[in-house]
Parts: sequence; structure tokens; C-alpha cells
Amino acid sequence: MTANEFIKKIFFIEILKGLALTFKHMVTPAVTRQYPTEKREPFQGSRGLHALVRNPATGREKCVGCGLCAAMCPSQCIHIYTSEDESHKKVVDQYEIEVLRCVFCALCVDACPYGAVVLTPHFEYSGYTRDEFYYTKERLLENWDKFMAGDNGETYLEKFWRPKSADFGIPAIPQAEEKIKQ
Ligand code: SF4
Ligand code: SF4
Repeated sequence: MTANEFIKKIFFIEILKGLALTFKHMVTPAVTRQYPTEKREPFQGSRGLHALVRNPATGREKCVGCGLCAAMCPSQCIHIYTSEDESHKKVVDQYEIEVLRCVFCALCVDACPYGAVVLTPHFEYSGYTRDEFYYTKERLLENWDKFMAGDNGETYLEKFWRPKSADFGIPAIPQAEEKIKQ
């Protein structure tokens, strides 16, 4: 046992530290918020209601119906139905999320190679029927317009959606470059 440990033991330093913390909290005002009269601003990156990203160029969903999000979803609550148009291009006919089964893990967001599905900061929603929580493609696109309009969507994808093309670049390793030159 070191001298430091011995001093700590005989003067009960750890116990005194614990008691000091307890007393500090006894005199600190409570931080409980009186929801819903007092609300905290929702922040970007919080895992609220889903949205499908609207492509500004086409006005349609960015989703291409690859199904990776549905394959990755642990709750199996994403349902995608696709067909082929005249030019043999895949068309997303239906994209549906059963929000009541969702665990808000955001794996669908991570799995999507196109940044086409996001979780918005909106969390205050309720309903009386299960149908109200069955989000169709149109409702998911409306969520994008309502909660991720303007810079919100871009900021979200920039901050929270990975990997991007740039992430696949080969990192510069100075030592390795030196060796190649030699
Ligand atoms: S957040 Fe998780 S559980 Fe919910 S739809 Fe996405 S992958 Fe499924
Ligand atoms: S949201 Fe993304 S991962 Fe899911 S089907 Fe559409 S493109 Fe594929």
C-alpha cells in the first residue's frame, strides 16, 4: 500500500467525497421540467419520427427501393414494394413504416447508401388507432417537408449520415509516402 492510499484510508477520504457530492445535490435546485408547459427545443440528431428525403431536383423521394434499410431493421417494420417502369428503371410504389414497432435505433438511416431516410427531431405525436402510426411514402415525404425543410435536412445528413464518398478515400500516411519515395 502506498502512503497516499494509506492516508486516504485512515481519513476516509472516499467516503467524505461521496458525502460532499450528496450534500451538494441536496442544495442544488431540481432540474425537472414541467412538460408540456415547459419544453426543451428539440435538437438535430435526436431520434424522432421518420421521414423520406425529397429530392429537390425531381420533387420525388430520393429512395431507389434497394431494400437495405428494411433488411437491416431489427423490428422488421419497414415494407417496400417496387416495380419496373417502361425504361426498366426501378420505381418505389410503396414505402411504409410501422412506427409502433420501431425501436428508433436509426440503423435504417445508417444502412441507406443514398441518404434517403432520416429520423426527424419531431417526437410529440399521438393517436387513437394503429393506422395513424402506419406511415406511407406520402406521409413520410410530408414529414420531410414539415420537419426537415430548408437547411435542416442538409445539416442532418452532413452531421449524422455516414459513410460519405469522401470517407472511402485512402488516408495519407506520411511515413508510407516517405517509403514510396525511397
Ligand atoms: S429506426 Fe431502427 S427499428 Fe426503426 S425503422 Fe429504422 S431500423 Fe427499424
Ligand atoms: S431508404 Fe435507402 S436503403 Fe431504404 S430502400 Fe430507399 S434507398 Fe434503399
